[in-house]
Amino acid sequence: METVIAKAQAHYSFFEGVERNFDKASKYTRFESGILEQIKACNSVYRMKFPVRIGDNIEVIEAYRVQHSHHKLPCKGGIRYSMDVNQDEVMALASLMTYKCAIVNVPFGGAKGGIKINPKKYTTFELEKITRRYASELVKKNFIGPGVDVPAPDYGTGGREMSWIVDTYASLKPGEVDAQACVTGKPVSQGGVRGRTEATGLGVYYGIRELCNVAEDMQKLGLTPGIEGKKVIIQGLGNVGYHAAKFFFDNGAKIVGLSEYEGGIYDEKGLDIYKVVDHRKNTGSILNYPGATNFTNGADTMEQPCDILIPAALENVINGSNAARIQAKIIGEAANGPLTPDADEILGAKGVVIVPDMYLNAGGVTVSYFEWLKNLSHVRFGRMDKRFSENQYGTILHAVEGLTGKRVTDTERTLLLHGPDEVDLVYSGLEDTMIGSYHEIREAMLSLPGVDMRTAAFTVAINKVGMAYEELGIFP
Ligand code: NAD
Repeated sequence: METVIAKAQAHYSFFEGVERNFDKASKYTRFESGILEQIKACNSVYRMKFPVRIGDNIEVIEAYRVQHSHHKLPCKGGIRYSMDVNQDEVMALASLMTYKCAIVNVPFGGAKGGIKINPKKYTTFELEKITRRYASELVKKNFIGPGVDVPAPDYGTGGREMSWIVDTYASLKPGEVDAQACVTGKPVSQGGVRGRTEATGLGVYYGIRELCNVAEDMQKLGLTPGIEGKKVIIQGLGNVGYHAAKFFFDNGAKIVGLSEYEGGIYDEKGLDIYKVVDHRKNTGSILNYPGATNFTNGADTMEQPCDILIPAALENVINGSNAARIQAKIIGEAANGPLTPDADEILGAKGVVIVPDMYLNAGGVTVSYFEWLKNLSHVRFGRMDKRFSENQYGTILHAVEGLTGKRVTDTERTLLLHGPDEVDLVYSGLEDTMIGSYHEIREAMLSLPGVDMRTAAFTVAINKVGMAYEELGIFP
């Protein structure tokens, strides 16, 4: 083990790490080096600086939008607000988006955006000014639009920021009938789709549930099949982490550890996610939750005993210096890039199953795709067929009751006659996507003995993007 750790102390930037994983997988594909170079390269990198008046001063804000791949349009990817934003990070996240979209069969190229700010430092009005200015910079350079590039929320942003962006875009493009489709993750009142807010966390849950449902894979880890009773630790209680925690908890997993930037808590008997969130609202911190052990350094929480560890905050949090102390048997990458290549090697050598980000957190982009489709079709999912389905179910039930002479209970009747609402269809599309893609990656992994799930996922993605390039005929 020591040699693995020593070997794994090399340092890579986030983008170099993604490239390294790509190179590892590319040898299992049939494409010539030129095609592989083209797939790997970031097609357009837009770095901007713009002035915004904050109080009595003018602040010059640094921001980015990177379009990694134009093999399918529009490009798609979130916008993050963080002081850690830099060109390397945005390029890495944009390339992960390309592979992610390919894995879940979402017909977009990858992109990502970022503004180098600490959003907590600004008032709502100031944040709105920064966001609107960023959106207008994107419009000026044709880096946003329903058929060009469609942003979404990411770390530090949410529905509110997406509303400001769509409003800015629509004001600058009067009469553009599909303007609402210029961004996803909007509130439902602004053209958003029901189920988008929780989509990434729900996708994380569906993906891990699928892994846990394969009995032979669980047996190799010394675990029983199924989610019920599995001990889970989650880092980050933002959009992705909170919703993932909620779905694990609601479906019988035991949340034993949680961490936030202020520290972490651990209780082997299990934590009630709803009560922890209430406790944080009341006290301003997750620390000092009754019955739990405190960790003033939140990262220490991840090293406690559990079956499943879900990092859902930021990149590079599990690396060469702490990977050897991780006790989980399964790591689900809910955040983008939470494990460095060093950590991958150390944990891989210990037999830990790592479910890669480019698959596991693809629920957000999958449901963003549904939102984009809704905006282009200008109709809510379920509007045309809900009542029709309910009438059909009623006719069938009536016939069955007539034939058997038995009546179902009122509760059963309500369930059986329920036609799909928008949120039912979105959940169903997401569940199907996460299950289908998991088995596609697993089959690739089984066909390439000795490779890990990340390499298998990259292989699947490279094959799809490479074939798209070939079909475009740009490599005569
Ligand atoms: P968010 O801003 O809603 O939440 C992030 C949370 O992590 C915050 O609560 C923050 O306080 C916490 N945090 C920050 N530093 C921490 C630390 N050191 N330890 C513990 N917690 C810490 O962001 P999000 O949208 O949930 O995104 C989280 C990750 O998921 C990012 O890597 C993002 O790229 C990825 N992701 C998000 C989406 C999406 O739909 N929002 C989709 C795919 C991937």
